[in-house]
Amino acid sequence: MATAMPNKRVDFRSDTVTRPTPEMRQAMYEAEVGDDVYGEDPTVNRLEELAAHLLGKEAGLFVTSGTQGNLIAVLTHTFPGQEVILESESHIFYYEVGGAALIGGVQLRTIPGKRGAMEPAAVEAAIRPHDIHFPPTGLICVENTHNRAGGAVIPISNMSALAAIGKKYSVPLHLDGARIFNAAYALNTSAQEIAAYFDSVSCCLSKGLAAPVGSIIVGRKEWIERARKWRKRLGGGMRQAGVLAAAGIVALEKMIDRLPEDHKLAKYLAAGLAEIPQLEVTPPDTNIVLVDVKQTRLTASDMVYRLADQGVLVTAFGPSTIRLVTHKDVDRGAADWVLTAMKNIIAGEA
Ligand SMILES: *Cc1c(COP(=O)(O)O)cnc(C)c1O
Repeated sequence: MATAMPNKRVDFRSDTVTRPTPEMRQAMYEAEVGDDVYGEDPTVNRLEELAAHLLGKEAGLFVTSGTQGNLIAVLTHTFPGQEVILESESHIFYYEVGGAALIGGVQLRTIPGKRGAMEPAAVEAAIRPHDIHFPPTGLICVENTHNRAGGAVIPISNMSALAAIGKKYSVPLHLDGARIFNAAYALNTSAQEIAAYFDSVSCCLSKGLAAPVGSIIVGRKEWIERARKWRKRLGGGMRQAGVLAAAGIVALEKMIDRLPEDHKLAKYLAAGLAEIPQLEVTPPDTNIVLVDVKQTRLTASDMVYRLADQGVLVTAFGPSTIRLVTHKDVDRGAADWVLTAMKNIIAGEA
């Protein structure tokens, strides 16, 4: 960012900005390690087993990022020339640099969602019948919570209907569950129950769970073995990765239970912003707040710069939409700072 920044700042750009906790750093320091490409890192093995257990699957794989986890999932489920059905604004389609198309050789078939949820009938209609002209449908992807829909939660009924369609047509389902534990809390259920609708799940350790690096993918044992081969092929085979996995274990054991605080802070922030007449706020399901700033007569990117001048970091999410994400490294004081900065900026524009 070109703007000169004040020394003190509050960072609502993403929950990826969370720093590892002292307990994580301690666990990293003490981690027992080995060469994970040989399968000999006990800490990585422990993390993979823990994640598989939490998500109710046979096996897990520690990967470098959510993007790599989703790409490996697409590669492991599909063959080049197949078609993948996913939501129009899904992370895999929108933010993963076209990796599925470039590296996986699959065609992406997007279905517009309502708050991130694809209509089951529309998904069923998009499944390709056998015909010499058609690319066969190889995979259906779902994102829960849905980032671009503002951390929206996909309801159980929707996931269940999509799973039934997958079963009917023998098409596997992958969940981009970067924030699956936020979804589980908002749905008042377990991550395991959500994961049960899917053949594979990816989950970020480095967002609200605050680990410095890494994601996990889980699925059947045989599927994970093939995924492991893809990870190696992509250059994601890491050696003494137990140093990183140790933080991931703390993330899964200690950080899930505090996610409700992020949801509460998002509600507080959204309520405060909604009191400002020029702002249109989408009420948050989880830890993401979307704000339409059209009526301030500033564009989203102008607003991002004006806020940064006041020490408030947020993301432009469209021509007139900004995104604020709550996480463990921001608190009520930081939220109040956002409200004050926003009021100052709007008063200056009047
Ligand atoms: C952040 C995110 C990812 C990718 O994670 P990275 O670790 O940043 O590559 C995937 N899907 C969703 C929904 C995300 O929010």
